[in-house]
Amino acid sequence: MPIGEFDIIARYFSRATRRDDVLLGVGDDAALLVPPPGQALVAATDTLVEGRHFLPGTPAAALGHQALAVNLSDLAAMGAEPAWALLALSLPASDEPWLAGFAEGLHALAERHGVALVGGDTVSGPLIITIEVLGFVPPELALRRSGARAGDLVCVSGSPGVAAAGLELLQSGRATFESKDARVQRFLHAEPRLALGRALRGVATAAMDVSDGLVGDLRKLAQASGVRACIDLERLPIAAELAILPLAEQERLVLHGGDDYELLFTLPSDHFGLISRLAEAGGCSVRCIGAMIAGAGVECRREGAPVAMEGRGYDHFAG
Ligand code: ADP
Ligand code: MG
Repeated sequence: MPIGEFDIIARYFSRATRRDDVLLGVGDDAALLVPPPGQALVAATDTLVEGRHFLPGTPAAALGHQALAVNLSDLAAMGAEPAWALLALSLPASDEPWLAGFAEGLHALAERHGVALVGGDTVSGPLIITIEVLGFVPPELALRRSGARAGDLVCVSGSPGVAAAGLELLQSGRATFESKDARVQRFLHAEPRLALGRALRGVATAAMDVSDGLVGDLRKLAQASGVRACIDLERLPIAAELAILPLAEQERLVLHGGDDYELLFTLPSDHFGLISRLAEAGGCSVRCIGAMIAGAGVECRREGAPVAMEGRGYDHFAG
């Protein structure tokens, strides 16, 4: 007998929380939550649809992780501290091994960041996962996309491109989901940069998380800020996992890969040392990859000379 809706909720999605700002969590008609006085409530939601946002056959634990991580990454990009999450789950079947794996991936990440799952909805249908996260930030310290100024440095955390390399290994059939390859593991279990996001409060002039690739996302940030972004290609962080690839491949993955949950941000140059030290103390590196100038759009330079760009992205074969 497959278990029913109420047993699914009770068995997999009702967990006691230590948070004392949850007056009522899962079980009533709605959650009762107490936001801290003086802070802005930060809200984000993201939906994952099978075949569109994730490959069929993706391990359930990785999906539980990713569905929450993609939302926590949005809160990190705002400089926010996450607190609560809601999960709307559409399931083709009440498959207990799948539910156990999914819940394990979700709860493990939630617990690492002190997030309480406080409600949701469970329905039958195609596999679709929607999570909403709520968190807090002092309103004047929230990181927006719109504050970058000419003269600011452009920085990125960690090593973007590794997850995209992992995705390509899976898509091409050169690796399976069970592979221990670091690129595949990064794609399945990338960690959102919450501590870095909070460290950037009051220091970064603009921030966002990289979801559509560095160049495309930097273009959005530049547009929101009304400035032009310049990337120096020789300054891109190249992870050890990508070092064996030809340079053009490394750059393609770093500039256009998503899914690493890295943060892209701008700051005045005299703050770079401080952020670099804070980030390293938190186990994450940050790299200055360029600067903002007057104008609009994004340009890539190699040893100071502009490299041709085409369409949305950087074109390796032009010029
Ligand atoms: P209602 O019919 O009043 O909307 P539901 O039967 O849908 O209530 O849900 C019962 C309780 O379980 C509610 O508190 C709801 O928030 C919670 N809930 C339902 N599905 C999930 C889920 N997938 N994850 C977490 N909480 C859930
Ligand atoms: Mg109800």
